[in-house]
Amino acid sequence: MRDKCGIVGMYSSDQSKDVAPLIYYGLFALQHRGQEAAGISAHNGNEINTYRGMGLVCDVFNNGKIKGLEGNVGIGHVRYSTTGKSNPANVQPFTSEFQGGRIAIAHNGDIINSMELRQEMEENGHEFNSTTDSEVISHLLSSEYANNNDMVKSIEIVAGKLVGSYSLVVLLNKDLYVVRDPLGIKPLALGEKNGTKMVASESVAFDVVDVDYIRDVEPGEILILNDDIQSHKMEIAKNTPNAHCMFEYVYFARPDSIMDGQNIYNVRLNIGKALHREFPVDADVIMPVPDSAITAAIGYSRESGIPYGEGLIKNRYVGRTFIMPTQEEREMSVKLKMNPIKSELEGKSIVLVDDSIVRGTTSKALINVLKESGVKEIHLRVGCPPIISPCYYGVAMATKKELIAANNSIEEIKNLLDVDSLGYLDIHALKECIGLDYDQLCMGCLNEKYPTELPKNLKAYESCRC
Ligand code: SF4
Repeated sequence: MRDKCGIVGMYSSDQSKDVAPLIYYGLFALQHRGQEAAGISAHNGNEINTYRGMGLVCDVFNNGKIKGLEGNVGIGHVRYSTTGKSNPANVQPFTSEFQGGRIAIAHNGDIINSMELRQEMEENGHEFNSTTDSEVISHLLSSEYANNNDMVKSIEIVAGKLVGSYSLVVLLNKDLYVVRDPLGIKPLALGEKNGTKMVASESVAFDVVDVDYIRDVEPGEILILNDDIQSHKMEIAKNTPNAHCMFEYVYFARPDSIMDGQNIYNVRLNIGKALHREFPVDADVIMPVPDSAITAAIGYSRESGIPYGEGLIKNRYVGRTFIMPTQEEREMSVKLKMNPIKSELEGKSIVLVDDSIVRGTTSKALINVLKESGVKEIHLRVGCPPIISPCYYGVAMATKKELIAANNSIEEIKNLLDVDSLGYLDIHALKECIGLDYDQLCMGCLNEKYPTELPKNLKAYESCRC
Protein backbone atom coordinates (compact mmCIF):
# COMPACT_ATOMS: atom_id res chain seq x y z
CA MET A 1 0.00 0.00 0.00
CA ARG A 2 1.34 3.41 -0.89
CA ASP A 3 0.61 6.97 0.05
CA LYS A 4 1.05 9.78 -2.34
CA CYS A 5 4.00 11.89 -1.44
CA GLY A 6 5.59 14.09 1.17
CA ILE A 7 6.14 17.84 0.92
CA VAL A 8 8.33 20.47 2.56
CA GLY A 9 8.33 24.28 2.37
CA MET A 10 10.85 26.58 4.05
CA TYR A 11 11.56 30.30 4.45
CA SER A 12 14.54 31.84 6.25
CA SER A 13 14.51 35.49 7.29
CA ASP A 14 18.30 35.40 6.87
CA GLN A 15 18.52 36.41 3.20
CA SER A 16 22.02 34.93 2.90
CA LYS A 17 20.95 31.47 4.03
CA ASP A 18 20.31 28.74 1.46
CA VAL A 19 17.35 26.60 2.51
CA ALA A 20 17.77 23.84 -0.12
CA PRO A 21 20.20 21.76 2.03
CA LEU A 22 17.70 21.89 4.92
CA ILE A 23 14.82 20.93 2.62
CA TYR A 24 16.99 18.03 1.42
CA TYR A 25 17.33 16.75 4.99
CA GLY A 26 13.61 17.28 5.58
CA LEU A 27 12.85 15.16 2.50
CA PHE A 28 15.13 12.45 3.86
CA ALA A 29 12.95 12.32 6.99
CA LEU A 30 9.88 11.94 4.74
CA GLN A 31 11.40 9.30 2.47
CA HIS A 32 8.89 6.68 3.71
CA ARG A 33 6.12 8.73 2.05
CA GLY A 34 7.58 8.40 -1.44
CA GLN A 35 10.54 6.62 -2.95
CA GLU A 36 10.02 7.00 -6.68
CA ALA A 37 11.25 10.53 -7.19
CA ALA A 38 12.34 13.71 -5.42
CA GLY A 39 12.81 17.38 -6.23
CA ILE A 40 13.54 20.82 -4.78
CA SER A 41 12.79 24.35 -6.07
CA ALA A 42 14.40 27.45 -4.55
CA HIS A 43 14.17 31.16 -5.34
CA ASN A 44 17.56 32.90 -5.45
CA GLY A 45 16.30 36.50 -5.42
CA ASN A 46 15.89 36.62 -9.20
CA GLU A 47 14.38 33.36 -10.32
CA ILE A 48 13.20 29.91 -9.27
CA ASN A 49 15.67 27.07 -9.88
CA THR A 50 14.57 23.45 -9.70
CA TYR A 51 16.33 20.12 -9.60
CA ARG A 52 14.33 16.89 -9.64
CA GLY A 53 14.76 13.31 -10.69
CA MET A 54 13.74 9.69 -10.31
CA GLY A 55 14.90 7.73 -7.28
CA LEU A 56 15.56 8.17 -3.58
CA VAL A 57 16.48 11.60 -2.20
CA CYS A 58 20.12 10.52 -1.82
CA ASP A 59 20.25 9.29 -5.44
CA VAL A 60 18.63 12.38 -6.96
CA PHE A 61 20.82 14.88 -5.11
CA ASN A 62 24.14 13.06 -5.31
CA ASN A 63 27.30 14.75 -6.63
CA GLY A 64 26.53 18.13 -5.11
CA LYS A 65 23.51 18.88 -7.33
CA ILE A 66 22.00 20.79 -4.43
CA LYS A 67 24.63 23.51 -4.83
CA GLY A 68 22.83 25.02 -7.83
CA LEU A 69 19.77 25.68 -5.66
CA GLU A 70 20.50 28.93 -3.88
CA GLY A 71 18.06 31.14 -2.00
CA ASN A 72 16.33 31.64 1.34
CA VAL A 73 12.95 30.23 0.25
CA GLY A 74 12.07 26.90 -1.33
CA ILE A 75 9.90 23.81 -1.55
CA GLY A 76 10.55 20.06 -1.88
CA HIS A 77 8.75 16.86 -2.72
CA VAL A 78 9.11 13.07 -2.53
CA ARG A 79 6.78 11.07 -4.73
CA TYR A 80 4.81 7.91 -5.09
CA SER A 81 2.51 7.83 -8.06
CA THR A 82 -1.23 7.37 -7.86
CA THR A 83 -2.31 9.66 -10.68
CA GLY A 84 0.08 9.66 -13.59
CA LYS A 85 2.72 7.06 -14.34
CA SER A 86 6.05 6.88 -12.58
CA ASN A 87 8.16 8.77 -15.12
CA PRO A 88 10.41 11.87 -15.18
CA ALA A 89 7.71 14.17 -16.60
CA ASN A 90 5.58 13.59 -13.50
CA VAL A 91 8.27 14.41 -10.94
CA GLN A 92 7.61 17.43 -8.71
CA PRO A 93 7.92 20.33 -7.96
CA PHE A 94 6.18 21.37 -11.17
CA THR A 95 7.33 24.68 -12.52
CA SER A 96 5.78 26.82 -15.21
CA GLU A 97 5.98 30.30 -16.64
CA PHE A 98 2.84 32.36 -16.89
CA GLN A 99 1.75 35.98 -17.27
CA GLY A 100 2.50 36.75 -13.59
CA GLY A 101 5.94 35.15 -13.50
CA ARG A 102 6.99 31.67 -12.48
CA ILE A 103 5.23 29.17 -10.24
CA ALA A 104 6.53 25.97 -8.59
CA ILE A 105 4.19 23.62 -6.82
CA ALA A 106 4.47 20.43 -4.74
CA HIS A 107 1.35 18.43 -3.88
CA ASN A 108 0.41 15.60 -1.54
CA GLY A 109 -3.04 14.21 -2.24
CA ASP A 110 -5.38 13.16 -5.01
CA ILE A 111 -7.90 15.22 -6.95
CA ILE A 112 -10.95 13.11 -7.75
CA ASN A 113 -12.28 15.43 -10.47
CA SER A 114 -8.91 16.15 -12.10
CA MET A 115 -9.87 14.47 -15.40
CA GLU A 116 -12.90 16.72 -15.84
CA LEU A 117 -10.94 19.84 -14.86
CA ARG A 118 -8.10 18.93 -17.20
CA GLN A 119 -10.45 18.30 -20.11
CA GLU A 120 -12.12 21.66 -19.53
CA MET A 121 -8.76 23.44 -19.52
CA GLU A 122 -7.53 21.60 -22.61
CA GLU A 123 -10.64 22.77 -24.42
CA ASN A 124 -9.64 26.29 -23.39
CA GLY A 125 -6.15 25.91 -24.88
CA HIS A 126 -4.08 24.72 -21.90
CA GLU A 127 -1.26 22.31 -22.72
CA PHE A 128 -0.03 19.82 -20.14
CA ASN A 129 3.47 18.39 -19.81
CA SER A 130 2.57 15.58 -17.42
CA THR A 131 -0.35 13.28 -16.63
CA THR A 132 -0.75 14.25 -12.98
CA ASP A 133 -3.49 16.02 -11.07
CA SER A 134 -0.83 18.23 -9.48
CA GLU A 135 -0.20 19.94 -12.81
CA VAL A 136 -3.95 20.55 -13.10
CA ILE A 137 -3.79 22.47 -9.79
CA SER A 138 -0.77 24.40 -11.06
CA HIS A 139 -2.61 25.49 -14.23
CA LEU A 140 -5.73 26.44 -12.30
CA LEU A 141 -3.75 28.56 -9.83
CA SER A 142 -1.67 30.38 -12.44
CA SER A 143 -4.75 31.11 -14.60
CA GLU A 144 -6.64 32.61 -11.65
CA TYR A 145 -3.60 34.59 -10.52
CA ALA A 146 -3.07 35.96 -14.03
CA ASN A 147 -6.66 37.28 -13.84
CA ASN A 148 -6.73 38.83 -10.38
CA ASN A 149 -3.10 39.22 -9.22
CA ASP A 150 -4.13 38.00 -5.75
CA MET A 151 -2.81 34.55 -4.81
CA VAL A 152 -4.90 34.07 -1.66
CA LYS A 153 -8.05 34.86 -3.63
CA SER A 154 -6.88 32.55 -6.44
CA ILE A 155 -6.33 29.68 -3.98
CA GLU A 156 -9.85 30.15 -2.56
CA ILE A 157 -11.37 30.12 -6.05
CA VAL A 158 -9.41 27.01 -7.06
CA ALA A 159 -10.28 25.26 -3.77
CA GLY A 160 -13.94 25.72 -4.71
CA LYS A 161 -13.32 23.67 -7.87
CA LEU A 162 -11.21 20.85 -6.45
CA VAL A 163 -12.75 17.65 -5.07
CA GLY A 164 -10.32 15.47 -3.15
CA SER A 165 -7.29 15.81 -0.93
CA TYR A 166 -4.45 18.30 -1.22
CA SER A 167 -1.71 19.66 0.95
CA LEU A 168 0.29 22.10 -1.15
CA VAL A 169 3.40 24.23 -1.04
CA VAL A 170 3.50 26.86 -3.76
CA LEU A 171 6.36 29.13 -4.70
CA LEU A 172 4.97 32.08 -6.61
CA ASN A 173 8.10 33.94 -7.68
CA LYS A 174 9.74 34.56 -4.27
CA ASP A 175 6.59 34.12 -2.14
CA LEU A 176 5.83 30.85 -0.31
CA TYR A 177 2.15 29.85 0.04
CA VAL A 178 0.96 26.84 2.00
CA VAL A 179 -2.47 25.25 1.59
CA ARG A 180 -4.31 22.41 3.33
CA ASP A 181 -7.59 21.20 1.86
CA PRO A 182 -10.81 22.17 3.69
CA LEU A 183 -11.25 18.66 5.10
CA GLY A 184 -7.62 18.27 6.19
CA ILE A 185 -7.43 14.79 4.67
CA LYS A 186 -3.66 14.89 4.17
CA PRO A 187 -1.41 16.03 7.01
CA LEU A 188 0.64 19.23 7.11
CA ALA A 189 2.54 20.59 10.11
CA LEU A 190 4.04 24.02 10.83
CA GLY A 191 7.37 24.64 12.55
CA GLU A 192 9.56 27.62 13.38
CA LYS A 193 12.89 28.47 14.97
CA ASN A 194 15.12 31.57 14.92
CA GLY A 195 13.51 33.14 11.87
CA THR A 196 13.18 29.87 9.95
CA LYS A 197 9.60 28.89 9.10
CA MET A 198 8.89 25.43 7.82
CA VAL A 199 5.96 23.25 6.82
CA ALA A 200 6.16 19.51 6.23
CA SER A 201 3.87 16.52 5.78
CA GLU A 202 5.11 15.20 9.12
CA SER A 203 6.72 16.84 12.12
CA VAL A 204 9.72 14.44 11.91
CA ALA A 205 11.07 16.66 9.13
CA PHE A 206 11.44 19.48 11.70
CA ASP A 207 13.40 17.35 14.15
CA VAL A 208 16.15 16.62 11.66
CA VAL A 209 16.82 20.32 10.89
CA ASP A 210 16.27 21.48 14.49
CA VAL A 211 13.05 23.42 13.87
CA ASP A 212 10.38 23.42 16.61
CA TYR A 213 6.96 21.95 15.86
CA ILE A 214 4.40 24.73 16.44
CA ARG A 215 1.09 23.27 15.32
CA ASP A 216 -0.66 21.63 12.37
CA VAL A 217 -1.84 23.71 9.44
CA GLU A 218 -5.61 23.84 9.89
CA PRO A 219 -7.95 22.33 7.32
CA GLY A 220 -8.80 25.06 4.82
CA GLU A 221 -5.97 27.30 6.00
CA ILE A 222 -3.77 29.29 3.64
CA LEU A 223 -0.44 30.45 5.06
CA ILE A 224 2.05 32.91 3.64
CA LEU A 225 5.49 32.28 5.11
CA ASN A 226 7.90 35.21 5.14
CA ASP A 227 9.30 37.25 8.05
CA ASP A 228 5.83 36.76 9.58
CA ILE A 229 3.29 33.99 9.23
CA GLN A 230 0.07 35.27 7.68
CA SER A 231 -2.96 33.00 7.98
CA HIS A 232 -6.28 33.03 6.06
CA LYS A 233 -9.13 30.60 6.57
CA MET A 234 -11.02 29.63 3.41
CA GLU A 235 -14.72 30.51 3.48
CA ILE A 236 -15.63 26.98 2.33
CA ALA A 237 -13.77 25.50 5.31
CA LYS A 238 -15.70 27.42 7.94
CA ASN A 239 -18.12 25.29 9.97
CA THR A 240 -17.27 22.07 8.12
CA PRO A 241 -16.16 18.85 9.85
CA ASN A 242 -12.61 17.58 9.29
CA ALA A 243 -11.66 14.28 7.70
CA HIS A 244 -8.10 13.39 8.69
CA CYS A 245 -7.06 10.09 7.11
CA MET A 246 -7.17 7.38 9.80
CA PHE A 247 -4.54 5.44 7.87
CA GLU A 248 -1.86 7.99 8.70
CA TYR A 249 -2.24 7.00 12.36
CA VAL A 250 -2.46 3.25 11.69
CA TYR A 251 0.28 2.84 9.11
CA PHE A 252 1.69 5.70 7.03
CA ALA A 253 3.13 8.24 9.40
CA ARG A 254 6.37 7.62 11.20
CA PRO A 255 5.77 6.67 14.86
CA ASP A 256 7.92 9.62 15.95
CA SER A 257 5.56 12.14 14.29
CA ILE A 258 2.89 14.31 15.87
CA MET A 259 -0.14 14.69 13.64
CA ASP A 260 -3.17 16.90 14.23
CA GLY A 261 -2.22 17.04 17.88
CA GLN A 262 -1.90 13.27 18.29
CA ASN A 263 1.33 11.45 19.08
CA ILE A 264 1.50 8.61 16.55
CA TYR A 265 3.59 6.37 18.81
CA ASN A 266 0.97 6.59 21.57
CA VAL A 267 -1.86 5.94 19.09
CA ARG A 268 -0.15 2.71 17.98
CA LEU A 269 0.56 1.62 21.56
CA ASN A 270 -3.15 2.20 22.27
CA ILE A 271 -4.08 0.11 19.23
CA GLY A 272 -2.01 -2.83 20.53
CA LYS A 273 -3.51 -2.51 24.01
CA ALA A 274 -7.06 -2.34 22.64
CA LEU A 275 -6.40 -5.39 20.46
CA HIS A 276 -5.49 -7.37 23.56
CA ARG A 277 -8.58 -6.16 25.43
CA GLU A 278 -10.81 -7.14 22.48
CA PHE A 279 -9.05 -10.37 21.56
CA PRO A 280 -7.05 -11.82 24.47
CA VAL A 281 -5.33 -15.16 23.93
CA ASP A 282 -2.76 -17.34 25.68
CA ALA A 283 0.49 -17.43 23.73
CA ASP A 284 4.25 -17.74 24.23
CA VAL A 285 5.22 -14.53 22.50
CA ILE A 286 3.86 -11.36 20.78
CA MET A 287 5.50 -10.67 17.42
CA PRO A 288 5.04 -7.79 14.96
CA VAL A 289 5.02 -7.79 11.20
CA PRO A 290 7.96 -5.37 10.92
CA ASP A 291 8.33 -2.44 10.79
CA SER A 292 4.95 -0.73 10.86
CA ALA A 293 3.31 -3.03 13.45
CA ILE A 294 6.17 -2.96 15.99
CA THR A 295 4.62 -0.31 18.24
CA ALA A 296 1.18 -1.98 18.28
CA ALA A 297 2.83 -5.33 19.14
CA ILE A 298 4.65 -3.66 22.05
CA GLY A 299 1.25 -2.32 23.21
CA TYR A 300 -0.30 -5.80 23.02
CA SER A 301 2.63 -7.23 24.95
CA ARG A 302 2.46 -4.58 27.69
CA GLU A 303 -1.30 -5.02 28.13
CA SER A 304 -1.18 -8.83 28.15
CA GLY A 305 2.05 -9.35 30.05
CA ILE A 306 3.16 -11.84 27.34
CA PRO A 307 6.76 -11.17 26.24
CA TYR A 308 7.46 -9.28 23.02
CA GLY A 309 9.80 -10.98 20.55
CA GLU A 310 11.02 -10.84 16.99
CA GLY A 311 10.36 -13.68 14.58
CA LEU A 312 10.63 -11.92 11.25
CA ILE A 313 13.48 -9.67 10.13
CA LYS A 314 12.82 -7.12 7.42
CA ASN A 315 15.37 -6.55 4.69
CA ARG A 316 15.45 -2.74 4.67
CA TYR A 317 17.16 -2.53 1.30
CA VAL A 318 14.39 -4.06 -0.75
CA GLY A 319 12.30 -1.41 -2.48
CA ARG A 320 9.10 -2.04 -4.35
CA THR A 321 9.01 -5.43 -6.04
CA PHE A 322 7.11 -5.77 -9.27
CA ILE A 323 4.28 -8.27 -9.40
CA MET A 324 5.87 -11.64 -10.01
CA PRO A 325 4.02 -13.91 -12.42
CA THR A 326 4.02 -17.21 -10.53
CA GLN A 327 2.97 -18.06 -6.98
CA GLU A 328 6.42 -19.52 -6.31
CA GLU A 329 8.13 -16.28 -7.38
CA ARG A 330 5.71 -14.18 -5.34
CA GLU A 331 6.53 -16.23 -2.25
CA MET A 332 10.22 -15.74 -2.98
CA SER A 333 9.73 -11.96 -3.08
CA VAL A 334 8.04 -12.08 0.37
CA LYS A 335 10.98 -14.12 1.71
CA LEU A 336 13.36 -11.54 0.28
CA LYS A 337 11.58 -8.86 2.32
CA MET A 338 10.92 -10.85 5.51
CA ASN A 339 13.21 -13.61 6.75
CA PRO A 340 12.17 -15.79 9.72
CA ILE A 341 14.34 -16.47 12.77
CA LYS A 342 13.58 -20.18 13.07
CA SER A 343 15.04 -20.55 16.57
CA GLU A 344 12.54 -17.95 17.86
CA LEU A 345 9.57 -19.58 16.13
CA GLU A 346 9.88 -23.36 16.34
CA GLY A 347 7.20 -24.95 18.53
CA LYS A 348 5.88 -21.57 19.73
CA SER A 349 2.37 -20.26 19.96
CA ILE A 350 2.54 -16.65 18.68
CA VAL A 351 0.33 -13.59 18.51
CA LEU A 352 1.25 -11.98 15.19
CA VAL A 353 0.34 -8.27 15.13
CA ASP A 354 -0.09 -6.56 11.75
CA ASP A 355 -1.13 -2.95 11.02
CA SER A 356 -3.70 -3.83 8.35
CA ILE A 357 -4.74 -6.39 5.75
CA VAL A 358 -5.57 -5.17 2.24
CA ARG A 359 -5.60 -7.98 -0.33
CA GLY A 360 -4.44 -10.63 2.09
CA THR A 361 -1.79 -11.98 -0.29
CA THR A 362 1.19 -10.73 1.73
CA SER A 363 -0.37 -11.95 5.01
CA LYS A 364 -0.93 -15.39 3.48
CA ALA A 365 2.67 -15.61 2.23
CA LEU A 366 4.03 -14.48 5.63
CA ILE A 367 1.93 -17.03 7.45
CA ASN A 368 3.29 -19.74 5.14
CA VAL A 369 6.83 -18.61 5.98
CA LEU A 370 6.06 -18.80 9.72
CA LYS A 371 4.49 -22.26 9.39
CA GLU A 372 7.49 -23.56 7.46
CA SER A 373 9.58 -22.36 10.41
CA GLY A 374 7.72 -24.69 12.76
CA VAL A 375 5.34 -22.31 14.55
CA LYS A 376 2.75 -24.22 16.59
CA GLU A 377 -0.12 -21.69 16.63
CA ILE A 378 -0.66 -18.31 14.94
CA HIS A 379 -3.16 -15.82 16.40
CA LEU A 380 -3.37 -12.88 14.00
CA ARG A 381 -4.35 -9.45 15.41
CA VAL A 382 -4.90 -6.55 13.02
CA GLY A 383 -4.66 -2.92 14.12
CA CYS A 384 -6.99 -1.59 11.42
CA PRO A 385 -10.65 -2.64 11.07
CA PRO A 386 -11.54 -4.56 7.87
CA ILE A 387 -10.87 -2.50 4.72
CA ILE A 388 -14.00 -2.94 2.66
CA SER A 389 -13.76 -0.18 0.08
CA PRO A 390 -11.05 1.66 -1.90
CA CYS A 391 -9.49 5.02 -1.12
CA TYR A 392 -10.09 7.99 -3.45
CA TYR A 393 -7.75 10.40 -1.70
CA GLY A 394 -4.30 9.23 -2.68
CA VAL A 395 -3.77 5.94 -0.88
CA ALA A 396 -3.11 3.32 -3.55
CA MET A 397 -4.58 0.18 -2.00
CA ALA A 398 -6.70 -1.89 -4.39
CA THR A 399 -10.03 -2.02 -6.18
CA LYS A 400 -13.03 -3.32 -4.24
CA LYS A 401 -12.90 -6.76 -5.83
CA GLU A 402 -9.27 -7.17 -4.69
CA LEU A 403 -9.95 -6.30 -1.03
CA ILE A 404 -10.13 -9.49 1.01
CA ALA A 405 -12.51 -8.03 3.62
CA ALA A 406 -14.88 -6.66 0.97
CA ASN A 407 -15.53 -10.15 -0.27
CA ASN A 408 -15.18 -12.45 2.75
CA SER A 409 -16.45 -12.68 6.32
CA ILE A 410 -13.93 -12.62 9.19
CA GLU A 411 -14.37 -16.38 9.61
CA GLU A 412 -13.70 -16.89 5.89
CA ILE A 413 -10.58 -14.70 6.09
CA LYS A 414 -9.35 -16.72 9.08
CA ASN A 415 -9.75 -19.90 7.02
CA LEU A 416 -8.20 -18.39 3.89
CA LEU A 417 -5.16 -17.23 5.85
CA ASP A 418 -5.08 -20.51 7.76
CA VAL A 419 -4.55 -19.00 11.22
CA ASP A 420 -5.75 -20.33 14.59
CA SER A 421 -7.61 -17.12 15.44
CA LEU A 422 -8.11 -13.70 13.86
CA GLY A 423 -9.10 -10.40 15.44
CA TYR A 424 -9.52 -7.04 13.72
CA LEU A 425 -9.66 -3.87 15.82
CA ASP A 426 -13.21 -2.51 16.07
CA ILE A 427 -13.87 0.82 14.33
CA HIS A 428 -15.09 2.52 17.54
CA ALA A 429 -11.99 1.29 19.37
CA LEU A 430 -9.81 2.72 16.58
CA LYS A 431 -11.47 6.12 16.97
CA GLU A 432 -10.77 5.95 20.73
CA CYS A 433 -7.13 4.95 20.13
CA ILE A 434 -6.57 7.88 17.76
CA GLY A 435 -8.27 10.25 20.18
CA LEU A 436 -10.28 12.17 17.56
CA ASP A 437 -14.04 12.11 17.00
CA TYR A 438 -15.78 10.68 13.95
CA ASP A 439 -16.37 14.21 12.62
CA GLN A 440 -12.58 14.71 12.63
CA LEU A 441 -11.66 11.53 10.75
CA CYS A 442 -11.97 10.00 7.30
CA MET A 443 -12.79 6.31 7.62
CA GLY A 444 -14.20 5.94 4.11
CA CYS A 445 -12.33 2.73 3.30
CA LEU A 446 -13.73 1.16 6.51
CA ASN A 447 -17.35 2.30 6.46
CA GLU A 448 -17.91 3.70 2.94
CA LYS A 449 -18.81 7.09 4.43
CA TYR A 450 -16.55 9.24 2.27
CA PRO A 451 -16.15 12.93 3.06
CA THR A 452 -16.59 14.10 -0.56
CA GLU A 453 -18.50 13.08 -3.64
CA LEU A 454 -16.93 10.12 -5.46
CA PRO A 455 -15.61 9.91 -9.05
CA LYS A 456 -18.41 10.18 -11.60
CA ASN A 457 -16.85 7.58 -13.87
CA LEU A 458 -15.26 4.99 -11.59
CA LYS A 459 -13.77 2.89 -14.42
CA ALA A 460 -12.05 5.88 -16.03
CA TYR A 461 -10.86 7.07 -12.60
CA GLU A 462 -9.34 3.68 -11.76
CA SER A 463 -7.68 3.35 -15.17
CA CYS A 464 -5.70 6.59 -14.71
CA ARG A 465 -4.51 5.66 -11.20
CA CYS A 466 -1.41 3.52 -10.93
S1 SF4 B 1 -10.50 6.40 2.42
FE1 SF4 B 1 -9.20 5.38 3.98
S2 SF4 B 1 -7.10 5.57 3.27
FE2 SF4 B 1 -8.35 7.02 2.08
S3 SF4 B 1 -8.19 8.98 3.14
FE3 SF4 B 1 -10.01 7.96 3.94
S4 SF4 B 1 -9.26 6.77 5.71
FE4 SF4 B 1 -7.47 7.38 4.52
